[in-house]
Formats: sequence, C-alpha cells, structure tokens
Amino acid sequence: MSHVLAAVAWPYANGPRHIGHVSGFGVPSDVFARYMRMAGHDVLMVSGTDEHGTPIQVQADADGVTPRELADRYNRVIVEDLHGLGLSYDLFTRTTTRNHYAVVQELFEGMYRNGYIVPKTTMGAISPSTGRTLPDRYIEGTCPICGYDSARGDQCDNCGNQLDPIDLIDPKSRINGETPKFVETEHFFLDLPALADVLRQWLDTREGWRPNVLRFSRNLLDDLQPRAITRDLEWGVPIPLDGWRDRPDKRIYVWFDAVIGYLSASIEWARRSGDPEAWRRWWSADGEGKDARSYYFMGKDNIVFHSVIWPALLSGYSGEGSRDGEPGELGQLNLPTEVVSSEYLTMEGRKFSSSRKVVIYVRDFLERYDADALRYFIAAAGPESNDTDFTWAEFLRRNNDELVAGWGNLVNRCVSMAAKNFGAIPSIDPAGLTEADEALLATARAGFDTVGDLIGRHRQKQAIGEAMKVVAEANRYLSEQAPWKLKDEADKPRMGTILHVALQVISDANTLLTPFLPHSAQQVHELLGRTGVHAPMPVIEQVDDLDGGPSYPVLTGDYTVGARWESVPLEAGTPLAAPKPVFRKLDPSIVDEELARLAG
Ligand SMILES: [Zn+2]
Repeated sequence: MSHVLAAVAWPYANGPRHIGHVSGFGVPSDVFARYMRMAGHDVLMVSGTDEHGTPIQVQADADGVTPRELADRYNRVIVEDLHGLGLSYDLFTRTTTRNHYAVVQELFEGMYRNGYIVPKTTMGAISPSTGRTLPDRYIEGTCPICGYDSARGDQCDNCGNQLDPIDLIDPKSRINGETPKFVETEHFFLDLPALADVLRQWLDTREGWRPNVLRFSRNLLDDLQPRAITRDLEWGVPIPLDGWRDRPDKRIYVWFDAVIGYLSASIEWARRSGDPEAWRRWWSADGEGKDARSYYFMGKDNIVFHSVIWPALLSGYSGEGSRDGEPGELGQLNLPTEVVSSEYLTMEGRKFSSSRKVVIYVRDFLERYDADALRYFIAAAGPESNDTDFTWAEFLRRNNDELVAGWGNLVNRCVSMAAKNFGAIPSIDPAGLTEADEALLATARAGFDTVGDLIGRHRQKQAIGEAMKVVAEANRYLSEQAPWKLKDEADKPRMGTILHVALQVISDANTLLTPFLPHSAQQVHELLGRTGVHAPMPVIEQVDDLDGGPSYPVLTGDYTVGARWESVPLEAGTPLAAPKPVFRKLDPSIVDEELARLAG
C-alpha cells in the first residue's frame, strides 16, 4: 500500500462546464482514484474551482455582480455537476477560501526569501477610462509579424507567434474598443531560469509519461524566461510583502494561485479530517510522504503549468534551484510523479464553443441521460491520447450496442433465469465444472491483473476494452451452454452450474467495471443479492470556512468502504429477485433531437 495523490485540474468558475471539460480529466482521474483505492492504496483526490483572474472580473462587471457572487454561482453549479457524475473527490473546494489564501502566501514568501521571486519594472496596458489594467488577452490589434488584424495581446492566432501587447499595431481594448495606455508598473516575476537545471534533472528521472508530454516539457526548458506572477487587478490573493499587502490594486496572478490549490486543498482536507498534519503523508519529501506518488490530470493546454511551473514553485520553495535556499515552514515538498494529460474532445466535428452554442453542458446531459452512459463513452471513446469527436450517433451506438445489449442484457438474462428457476444463486453441481466453465472463470480472474495494470498506467481505453472482453466471453459462453434449453428436472443441476458460473463472472466483470461505471456497479451488486456499499459516492456538504470566511459547498465522501480489487466468491443460496434493467436503451430519435438542439 502506498499513498497516492490524485490531483485534478481546477475548473474555472466563469460558467457551467461542458462534457469536453469532464472528458479530459474529470472522469479519467476518478477512474484512476477509484481503482487505486480498490487496489488498497491510500488515495487523496483533491481539486476545486479556480475563481480569480480577469475573465471572472470582466464577466462579473458585465453581469452587474461582484466577482465573488459570480464565483459563488458557478462554484455551486460545478460542484453539483461533478457530484452528478459521481466523481469521488476527498475534497473539492475552491480558491476563495482563507486557507487557500494563506497557503498561496506562504509559498510566495518562501520563494521570495529564497530569491526565486524577484521584482521588475515593466510596461503595462491600462484602460484610460477605468484606470484598470487591461490583461493581454483583452487587447487586440494588428500583428507586427504577419499583419493579421485580430491578433491578441499575448499571441497571434494567425502566425502563432507570442506577442507583447505593446508591440501590437493599433491596439484596442476588446472590452470597450478604446486605445490602451502603456505605463510603467512594478511586478513580481518567477525566476524560472534559476530553476531550469533542477527541472531538467527531475524530468530526466521521469518514467512512464506519455512521450508527447515529456517531449513538450523538455522543449519548454530550453527557452525559460522569468514569468510575471502579479497583475494590476483587485480580484485575487494579496501579495504578502510589506508595502504590498494592503494595496487594493495589486494581486497575485490567477495561474500562480490556482496551481497551488493542489497543496492548499490537501491541507484543508487534513484540517477537516481532525489530523491537521495528515496532508504530509502525500506531500512531505523528507518525511512520511517520501514514498508517496502524485498524479496530475489535465487537458493538454495545461501541461506547462503542471510539468514546469508547479514543479518550479515546489523546487523554489524547497530551496532547490541554482540560488539554493531553505524550505519554508511546510517543509520540502514532493514534485509530481506523473503528469497525465489528455487531448481534446470535439463535438460533431467542431470545437466546443459556448458562444457559438456548440456545446452540451454536464447538467443538461445528466438531465436527459445517465451518468454511467457518459462515463462509458468517455472511457471507451474519449480523448485519452488523440483528439476525439463526440457524436450523438456514436453515443447512441455505444450505449445501446455495448452497454445495454452487451453488459446490461447479460446481467438481466442471468439474474432473471436464476431468480425464476432457483429463487437464489444456484449451487454448483457436485459433478463439478467443465473445461468451458473453468476457462470462463479463469478469463474473468485474469482480468484483475490486466485491467488493473492498464488503469495504473493510464491506458483506460484499453482497460475498459479488456473488461468488456470478459463480458463478451460470458455472452458467448451463455449462447454455447444455452441453459434455457435444460428444462428437464434431470438437467437442472447443470443449469444451476452454468448460471452459477455466469453469475460469478458477472460479479467479477462488475468489479472490473466499477471504477468506470460506479452507479450501475452498485445496482449490479444489489441484483446479485448483496448488500452494503459497493461503489462509494461523493456527497455535497455545506461547510464553514475554517478561518472565518463565508461558508461554501464542498464535495467529499467516505471511500474507505466498498469493493476491493478482487474476485469475491458467490454464496449459493443467496436470494435473488427479478431484476430491473440496469441501463436505459435510448431511442434512435435522440440523435436528430440533439442535432436540432445544436443547430439551435
Ligand atoms: Zn501574426
């Protein structure tokens, strides 16, 4: 057993999340965490909503609410959506807690003391009418390199070059069209070049990463520049230095604070657990957490923050860059074991876009379909290692042909037949098992190693494929053995044996599918006459801020209960009732209905 941190990307709280967001990291991280717990590891799975930064400020202004009110609204929506999907967070919190502010400031101070955060004078754009800083992405103008007339302040989408807003020809504010003014402004920078060597050494020791992630991360190290970590903005974590702390117009940059959320959420979880130091078992590099492993789940656009920036912060805080230094009061902290990045999901051939209505929000999806139907699609056909297209036709096919006809039907037929003919799990004929019986049981048992190993290596598509192979084998076995033909009283012991074998394999396949399909796994568990929790579910709790801030909802749960990653022998004689279908067959008309909704 070991300590395993599942660190899941933080959704930005400026709107509801669509299925593309949860496909990339939400569901895959839950599958991984559930499997690791079932395999006996001590898992801590944390995340929360990312609530600072200019986009939320801008949208709050447009909606006539405060940024906090806007963040409150979408934090709740996102918490409810993730709950609906059954994502088993130990703690899903948010970045506006006082605990988070304190941890962010502690990291800032520690890095500053060690010399990895340095002040620098730069030219910043402000809006002449409001006096407020205009972030790069809210400035638009003509690209000085290729002449494209809608280049953004940070990047030209036409030629792909990185830009500085001051270089744009004829810059304009995208908020109100006015011409920005450029003024001298002081900011703090993360001295990434001083951390490049330690990052390179660390990357050289990484094993098992997806090759594209490792290659991309190494390339970033070749051209590391100091990076601004503060902005002229009112909405964010205050800068914890004398002369800055009380300034209302300077804040820590949102990406710097959000990435520290993995640590602050772990600390919050520990404080809520009654053992405030418990987080160290997953984080402490020189203490009880030194053998812990940490896995970070995100979409590919976020790799840089997890494979370069976050390890740089941790190394700087621990005093491990070229300027040396001492660890702060949290001690030396573990760097990521693995950065697990997914590719993009598109929808009917197009990029998801809330503004162009190429979207289906998690909430709307769950109103019309079951969570496990989506979880199945994501696991079997999601963007694990390639950009992948979600189509309603393919969703329908996978739901009806694979989930309903393949798996649900197997469960239903076997439980019905056993309930009707025996009223209970039948016993095995004293004459014993045939070769075919033994072979099927062995196939199912072998699945625990195969499927477990694949999930552990983040090959979930292959893993669920292997689990569904067990289901296919069981269906073939059933057709070949045809227990429904054994109607004579003399044949009944053999019928019982076949059904016992089939139900045992259903029980095993159900355990193999539990990390992917926790809701239906609980139902199948109960259909087999068992009681108690098989697949634990998260709960939403309204909690008080630990340090006196406003209360907020969190996702949490008791995941110490539930099935282990092993075959559990059925007990003959366990009563069985006639089953209800586990999955819903969808009418083919949903495809046209959904496409009509998309066309709007
Ligand atoms: Zn350009």
